[in-house]
Amino acid sequence: MPGECEHVSCGSKEKVWMPHYYQGRERGLKPHPYCAECGLIKNLSSEKPRRIGFYVNIITSLKDDFRMAQAQIRLMALDMEKSDFEDQYGMDRHQQEELFIEIVQKYAKVPDWALRRFF
Ligand SMILES: [Zn+2]
Repeated sequence: MPGECEHVSCGSKEKVWMPHYYQGRERGLKPHPYCAECGLIKNLSSEKPRRIGFYVNIITSLKDDFRMAQAQIRLMALDMEKSDFEDQYGMDRHQQEELFIEIVQKYAKVPDWALRRFF
């Protein structure tokens, strides 16, 4: 189940070499610790994920322009809650933004640019 793991980092000898991303761009390889419990690889970006509320505010401000019903917004918020959206261990801000756009466009016709101008 997502969101249930407390995340315990593996020992320093066991790190895995993975591409490191900054502002959505690959910046070479870096040793990443991973969770010994669920296997999730730790995000090393300094850009920590935002709270779900930040994204719900974006949708709410676009509600009238893109004719979204309150029920659609509720579904989007629910999807964010179910997807480890605020997971500080594994999620970085860029991944979160991409996931947010995906979730919004699943329920409403809102173009990328209308969402990206808030990031
Ligand atoms: Zn874990």
